[in-house]
Amino acid sequence: MFELCFLGTSASAPSIERNMTSTLIVHDGQRFLLDCAEGTQRQILQSGLGFKEMRRIFLTHGHLDHILGLGGIVSTFGRWEAISRIEIYGGRWAIDRVRDLMKVVLRGKEVEMEIDFIEVKPGVLVREKNLTITAFPVLHRGSGCFGYVFQEPTKRPFLAERAEELGVPAGPERRRLVAGETITLTDGRSVTPDLVLGAQVQGTKFVYVGDIARTDEVLEPARDADGLVMEATYIAADEAIARQFRHITAAEAAQCALAANVNQLFLTHISRRYNGAQIRAEACAIFPNTFVANDLDKAVVKRGIG
Ligand SMILES: [Zn+2]
Ligand SMILES: [Zn+2]
Repeated sequence: MFELCFLGTSASAPSIERNMTSTLIVHDGQRFLLDCAEGTQRQILQSGLGFKEMRRIFLTHGHLDHILGLGGIVSTFGRWEAISRIEIYGGRWAIDRVRDLMKVVLRGKEVEMEIDFIEVKPGVLVREKNLTITAFPVLHRGSGCFGYVFQEPTKRPFLAERAEELGVPAGPERRRLVAGETITLTDGRSVTPDLVLGAQVQGTKFVYVGDIARTDEVLEPARDADGLVMEATYIAADEAIARQFRHITAAEAAQCALAANVNQLFLTHISRRYNGAQIRAEACAIFPNTFVANDLDKAVVKRGIG
């Protein structure tokens, strides 16, 4: 299960209602910040979620409306919060730009912070017991733009009642069965994992895409995702402007979600020229399960719900 908090939902520049784009993702107590627009740290405070355990930041690309907030966040972390090390993931373009920004922030002794810059290449970035994060390339303006797939593993639930009936004691024996080992009980009977593990349950798949010029690159990575976050900078009536600035329309995002068999689509990065209702009307006509995010909206992405 992934919990989303849309910290900012505006494209390029803020409006009175919307800050620029950043999204906080919470999974199993871990927090991931996706992009970090100017003003993000105040949005985090307003969300009520705070800075705790926020050590990994993933950048979709190097445009200023996605990275400028890193200066402020690092300054605050380095002086006031008990966070002394963060990881910043991004394509080379984004990383180079953020390194330059950090030269200003970390000059002198005022701010002390260890930053690991991790240059993203297509493929697996993070592989942990309960989560794999994979990057895939997308087209926008500039090189090194990425989308991210957050995938929980497929699991077989442990059937405690069956284990009880079979006389498997609580403790290491049960852990070994979950790990796929056959065990022998003290009375000599053996118990195989199949006797105490249920049918396979697929983990939740969540996909995050930043600014994009076309949706072709998203189709396969987003296939059958439970949740897909995507930009909807323009509406179809302004498709020519979308092409010019290498963005997409709400209709194109919705068509992508439909073609990729996604369960729920979340739209963000909305141009100041529109209100949410215009974006929603256009997208929902094609893909009804669309949620147009406003600042500080929260949502849950979980297999089988939404
Ligand atoms: Zn942008
Ligand atoms: Zn951009």
